[in-house]
Amino acid sequence: MSIPRDALQAAADAHGTPLYVYDAAELDAALARVRDAFGDARVYYAMKANPNLTLLRRLHAAGVGFECVSAGELARAEHIGAAGANILVNGPAKSEAEYAAGARLGATFIVDRAEEVSLLPPASRALVRVNPALAVSTHDHLATGAAGSKFGVTLEQAPRVLDALRAAGHDALGLHVHIGSAIRDAGDFTAAFGRLTDLRERTGPLTVLDAGGGWGLDADLHGIAREARHAAQAFGAELWVEPGRYLVARAGQLLTRVVGTKHTGRNFVLVDAGMTELLRPMLYGAVHPVAPLWSAPDQQAWDIAGPACESGDVLARDVPLPTPERGHLLAFAEAGAYGAAMSSTYLTRSRPAEVLCEGDQWTLVRRRETPQDVWAAEE
Ligand SMILES: *Cc1c(COP(=O)(O)O)cnc(C)c1O
Repeated sequence: MSIPRDALQAAADAHGTPLYVYDAAELDAALARVRDAFGDARVYYAMKANPNLTLLRRLHAAGVGFECVSAGELARAEHIGAAGANILVNGPAKSEAEYAAGARLGATFIVDRAEEVSLLPPASRALVRVNPALAVSTHDHLATGAAGSKFGVTLEQAPRVLDALRAAGHDALGLHVHIGSAIRDAGDFTAAFGRLTDLRERTGPLTVLDAGGGWGLDADLHGIAREARHAAQAFGAELWVEPGRYLVARAGQLLTRVVGTKHTGRNFVLVDAGMTELLRPMLYGAVHPVAPLWSAPDQQAWDIAGPACESGDVLARDVPLPTPERGHLLAFAEAGAYGAAMSSTYLTRSRPAEVLCEGDQWTLVRRRETPQDVWAAEE
């Protein structure tokens, strides 16, 4: 944790909890690691990981483009001034509004099924998403490149869809592959890229190979980059990548305050954040590192549970902690990706505030919602 404990404590006191804290230095460092590994590949940030406008503006200023999967995300991209070659429109079931917004912004479309060829705006730039039919090393809900997944066209169909795009007057730039999220084994990427390069004889040379994202935080980035570059070279194509989680996960932590403890055969520490603020443990069985911001001599294992009336609302199990007391703070690390982005107003909970730390400068980058914000659209 690079932000000092007393600064985190002060932020929680000033802004309340649950609180998302982002570290600008860590965001910059993650982007630097991506650029170091992938060289001059064009980087599109998968906005769904964390759409906070301040983070988007910082990435935009650093020359990063955006992969958008909804009309709302396209509106965010437009709002911060991104356009044209800096925007990808993706998704398995795009709406008319999404095609229209993409066309207006001059974005590049990722075609997910053959039928889309006739739905694209005239003379669109397009990539074809290929499903490499692979089993990958991640949670089932995070795998997108398996046979039978809803994403992409088959390896068999892909060359024909490229031809159909050209015949319909579109600019068929090349192929796209994204096999899932939080993938630790670089071999999964090697296998996926290998299946794509097997298509080379049928596709001929291409302008772009988009290698997607999905890199686990501890994945061998240089190894993945080497394989992606080989695949792009096989097509004579330039390489694009779409990291989401990798860019923002480590930059974010979730601060939550201890409400109390309870012993039911297990030791529970109850905190003021839960599934409504951090859904990943419940949705994917995700394990986030947890740091207590207090010290005490003795330690035992605690389950950390949230306030929701749902028995699945447990953020972590068997975490060794010094004896907790009401008011103590816990920091859930690696929470910058799919944390705030997946927070919900279930139970009329107000979504948390978000602050950005840059050196000793703290900026509120999203205010805490009020109950009135939550019901505003019902009045
Ligand atoms: C979600 C997604 C990404 C980013 O995935 P991460 O695991 O966050 O890196 C990239 N490309 C596509 C098509 C996606 O759906």
